[in-house]
Amino acid sequence: MKKVSELYSGKAKSVYVSDDPRKLVLLFRDDTSAFDGEKVARLARKGMVNNRFNAFIMQRLGDAGIPTHFEALLSDNESLVKRLEMFPIECVVRNITAGSICRRLGVAEGLDLEAPTFEFFLKNDELHDPMINDYHIRAFGWAADQDMARMKELTFAVNDVLKKLFADAGLLLVDYKLEFGRYNDQILLGDEFTPDGCRLWDAETRKKLDKDRFRQGLGDVVEAYEEVAARLGIKLD
Ligand code: C5P
Repeated sequence: MKKVSELYSGKAKSVYVSDDPRKLVLLFRDDTSAFDGEKVARLARKGMVNNRFNAFIMQRLGDAGIPTHFEALLSDNESLVKRLEMFPIECVVRNITAGSICRRLGVAEGLDLEAPTFEFFLKNDELHDPMINDYHIRAFGWAADQDMARMKELTFAVNDVLKKLFADAGLLLVDYKLEFGRYNDQILLGDEFTPDGCRLWDAETRKKLDKDRFRQGLGDVVEAYEEVAARLGIKLD
């Protein structure tokens, strides 16, 4: 599978059209960013670690019956995926409070929620990805009711699979963001699942092992991602 032309370059990944028009190549770069692109850096090995991490998680989700766009690892930094028509929205589930919910609701970080929350956000960096609800999505035609229902169903199904997977590795899945797209008449999980888009804490010490290490200047960002990968048994190098 060859990269034919660049379709899009995001903050941490570039997306290429492949020689099969139904497939794309994702290139995981070493770039990282936070606060809608305000804070940026290059972190050696991050592209490779995230590419392998994402492949492992997507395969586990696929094995659990959650349809994803993932097709194959192509190289250290590249994966082949199905080309989806993406919904311009993000789906976030939280099990423990952290990040924007603390600022929005004035609650402390680290509260175990009685039930997971579900939130939609509009993908728009300039507007800082505002939170939206089903009515906005319906009113602006960003997705149909049955699409929203399916995205919620799949996002919660991911929680069931991954909470257990991470718990078995001594990790708490605090929250995560997913993006979905349409492929023929099916809705598939797209984008990526890596420590860039979720929060993971050590279950004993609650040490942060995700992108909050970068956002909060805690250091050892890629080292933390590698520790999570090692605990999950993901082979790096
Ligand atoms: O910032 P917030 O607390 O709303 O983020 C919730 C979860 O979604 C976190 O795991 C964060 O890393 C992820 N997220 C993301 N991309 C965004 C916004 C949030 O991956 N644009």
